[in-house]
Amino acid sequence: MIFCIPEFLSYPIFNNMISNAIKNYLKDKPFHAVDLKAVLFDMDGVLYDSMSNHAAAWVKTMSGLGVPFSAEEAYLHEGRTGEGTINIAFQRAFGRSVTKEEAAKIYGIKSACFNDCPQAEVMPGIVELLKKVKAAGLQPMLVTGSGQKSLLDRLNMHFPDTFKRELMITADDVIHGKPHPEPYLKALQKGRFKPEEAIVVENAPLGVESAHRAGIFTVAVNTGPLNDRVLFDAGADLLFADMPSFCDNWEALWSALKTTRKE
Ligand code: CA
Repeated sequence: MIFCIPEFLSYPIFNNMISNAIKNYLKDKPFHAVDLKAVLFDMDGVLYDSMSNHAAAWVKTMSGLGVPFSAEEAYLHEGRTGEGTINIAFQRAFGRSVTKEEAAKIYGIKSACFNDCPQAEVMPGIVELLKKVKAAGLQPMLVTGSGQKSLLDRLNMHFPDTFKRELMITADDVIHGKPHPEPYLKALQKGRFKPEEAIVVENAPLGVESAHRAGIFTVAVNTGPLNDRVLFDAGADLLFADMPSFCDNWEALWSALKTTRKE
């Protein structure tokens, strides 16, 4: 069953759709309701409109190495660690794994290309959404596969008093990147939350898969060029076309999460 929120729906139908998405999520879970305490945010493509820069940086870096790599592939691999992405491209192009040293060097080139791109803008709608999340008394947390220091440093400037460093999960905190559930499981562990006490906001298929495998209700916001189907196939429980739509409908989701029980 697919729970995508088209803009033209009237409120009763819309609320019913959210409630059904939650019931569907609860079906195979050992708990009867969501008791929301934290909202776990991915970074690239969620907090920042940075994915077109990442895609351009990957394409430029790989083409410099003679490795075929498309922008769409960058979106499909989004959330994977840099080494994981480079390894897949290496296997395909050269029939061998990349070494740790090679991967570190190539990721350095990619990071330099990314830093040469125009600064990524804050995602439209996210500041307003974070205000609502904080006003509801919920804990926002960052869970990213990125180790990109330039973006991590900017977080506090763009989202002051929002993401606590001691609650962040970045590339340095995990062995297995997304789509492995480790990043989201570690986030739950760091925040001392149970899966039913959090929801995830993700834009990429591998990120959605990671959150879904961690057993957390996952809201996909399709801020990139991929088809909605890819995000649902990865395990999204609910999908919004963009961040302003999610922000506009936050109250409906928050209310449904508080009232919906397993059938
Ligand atoms: Ca992302």
